[in-house]
Order: sequence, then structure tokens, then C-alpha cells
Amino acid sequence: MRGFQDRTEVADAVALLDRRLAQLPSENVAFHDAAGRVLAKDVVSEVAVPPFDRAAMDGYALRGAETFGAGPYNPLEFLVVGESLPGRPASTKVQQGQAVRIMTGAPIPEGADAVVQAEAAEEVVTGNTLRVRITEAVPPGRHVGRRGEDVTIGATVLRAGRVLRPQDLGVLASIGASPVPVVSRPSVAILVTGDELLRPGSRPEGFRIVDSNSVMVGSLVQRDGGAAMPAAQLADRREVLLEALRTCRADVVLISGGSSVGQEDHAPRVLAELGELSVHGVALRPAAPAGFGFVDGRPVFLLPGNPVSCLCGYDLFAGPAIRRLGGRSMELPYRRVRLPLARKIASAVGRVDYVRVRMQDGQVEPLATSGASILSSTTRADGFVLVPRDSEGHAAGETVEVFLYDS
Ligand code: AMP
Ligand code: MG
Repeated sequence: MRGFQDRTEVADAVALLDRRLAQLPSENVAFHDAAGRVLAKDVVSEVAVPPFDRAAMDGYALRGAETFGAGPYNPLEFLVVGESLPGRPASTKVQQGQAVRIMTGAPIPEGADAVVQAEAAEEVVTGNTLRVRITEAVPPGRHVGRRGEDVTIGATVLRAGRVLRPQDLGVLASIGASPVPVVSRPSVAILVTGDELLRPGSRPEGFRIVDSNSVMVGSLVQRDGGAAMPAAQLADRREVLLEALRTCRADVVLISGGSSVGQEDHAPRVLAELGELSVHGVALRPAAPAGFGFVDGRPVFLLPGNPVSCLCGYDLFAGPAIRRLGGRSMELPYRRVRLPLARKIASAVGRVDYVRVRMQDGQVEPLATSGASILSSTTRADGFVLVPRDSEGHAAGETVEVFLYDS
């Protein structure tokens, strides 16, 4: 890119973010707000789950040793002395020759050590006595869910840094761990510059185009665990941007447009004025005019207005920063596959190339129309290849790593 004296290497820029940014403090949230959040502390169980031995089947709890020899041609009879239901245990102890009718999840009564399933038992009433005829032998322990078989006391059920799955929340609930300590979500301000822009929701009209960057970036922020504030559209005036940035209290600021070195490119100068412009101009195509810096320790990203550059600049710099603050990995959050190239990719030594590719018959090919302003190229593409700085590109037939837009 013309105008940039020294362009920072992509890897150096990311390393700088890695050094300068730390995870935000934690906050406690209720279960219904915890899915997809990042666990802030290891969770150690103070209880056993289940807290008691329980039936794993509907049937009869008895002493397993007494059932030996039972079979369809040799039914054995036990006196039914009570009933155990979930949450309502039997009041009687099981003695020799006795059984307790039991439901799945109900506590195993004292004295019993096994459950015969209902399918292998038949109740017989004689006068006032209820007996059960067993046609299956069960060793001690059969169909009994042991205390602590799910979670033992002192077990670490989840580790800090875990992105909580729905079932994780179930486990946390089962051990009574509430509220849930999670890493705070970074708040993200999106400042959109460009006098030519109409608000998303408008139709392009005359010489004005619709702001697509704030919509795209807002959704990327959400993907990365940030909380995007409603985007603010700013006039292309230095004082307006200065004021917006000076009064902004978000954990991260994203400025779209005006990031280069032209007369209308206020963002880098304003950032340098209010804080520190750490990186301006990167060895990356198509996001060379990207940059970032800090105001009061909070990162501010300069995203080029061209939508593909904006996407690329977000993904390579802002995304990792937001994920870092929110306790997530800085790695690109795209699934990677290795596929052979159907056509060669040309690149230049000295910069990283973000090349949109399409999959076809188990191969990938670079898209023909791929300028920084052609956002629909990223819609037609299945993913992208990052050609390393020191590479002149990849030959047809070479296997490359593809980052897939869809997971
Ligand atoms: P700039 O980086 O402000 O010089 O903008 C470069 C190009 O991207 C220009 O063609 C702008 O019209 C276009 N552009 C800037 N901001 C946006 C936006 N938010 N949405 C879509 N296109 C944009
Ligand atoms: Mg502009």
C-alpha cells in the first residue's frame, strides 16, 4: 500500500496484542445466562452425585445373593415389605427373604444391594401378604447406581477457560454450583465513518451506499463472545471522531473506514492524539490500511472501509483481541481442512494474502473476482487461505490449509 513506510508483520501485530491484553475480570451469572460463556474458575464438586445409591431400573430391591439359582423354571419368592419411590424412600429395612418394590431413581433401601427388573418379577397376593416371584438371578450391585457414580466429592468437573456447553450447565446444576463464575463479556463500540453511508436497512440511493461493515462486524463480535453496542455512524470530521473516541467507555473500540493515510483518514491521527497508535499499516492483503492502538489501556482497531478488508482486518486483529479479553483462544475460530488446490494462488513475498476460495470436487480454487471492495466474494467463497509472508503462493495440486466460513 502506498503511503505506509513500514508495514507491521501480521504475526508481530498479533503478538503485540497477546502481550498487551489480559482477560477481563469475572462475574457471576445465572444458569440461563451461562451457555456459551467462558468459565472463570475451576469448579470442584463439594457433593456426590447421586448422593445415595439408587435404582437404575423399576423392579424389586433385595439381597442379590439370595437370588442365585432363580430362573424361569425356578422362580424364587420374596416377601414385599415396602415401596421406594424417587424422593420417598422405603421406611423398612430389607431382611432375609424380603424385597422392596422400587422405581428408577429411588433410594436403595438399607439391607438391599441389587435390583431385579420388573420384567423378571411377578407379584402374587395371598390373603394379606404380598409376595414377588423372581425369575432372574442378580449379583449384588446389579441395576444399582452407586453414590458418586456420576460425580465424586472433590472432583474437578470443569476447568477455567471452558466455553460452557448446555450439558455443562446441567452438571453444574447437579452439584449445586450456582451462580456460575464466568469471564465478563467485552463490550465493543462500533464507530462507522463515511459520509457516503446510509444506515443498514436503507436501500442504496444516488451516490450513497449502505453501511455493510457495522452489520457484519456486529455479528462477528457476537461470535467472538463480545457484547456489541449499537453502531454509531459518524460524520467524516476529525472533531466528531475525536469526541466519540474520547467519550467512549467500551472495552474495545472498532472504527470502520478512514484508516489509511489520506487527508480524510482521521482515525489514525485521532488515535495517536488520544492515546497510542501502535500499529498502522500491516503486511497483509487486502487489509494493509488496518491498524490498532490503545486509549487508557483499551484497544482501538482501525478497520479499512472496504468491506473485505474490514472483514479480514477484524478477523486477524480485532477478533483475537476480543476473544482474549473474554477468556477465549486467540486462534481463528474457523474449522480448518487441508485440500489440494485446483488452480495456483499467486502471492508476493513480504505479505500475508487472504485469498477467498471455493470448494469443488474435493479441491479448492481461488475466486477470480476478489477485490477488497467485492464483499460478495466472501459470500460465494467457502472459506479462505492465508498465504504466509515468505511464500510466493501455492502451485496447482499443492495441499493448502483452508479456513472454512461455516463450521
Ligand atoms: P475508507 O476506508 O473510508 O477510505 O473506505 C474505503 C471504501 O470502502 C470506500 O469505497 C467506502 O465507500 C467503502 N466503505 C467505507 N465504509 C463502509 C461501510 N461501513 N460499509 C460499506 N462500505 C464502506
Ligand atoms: Mg471513508
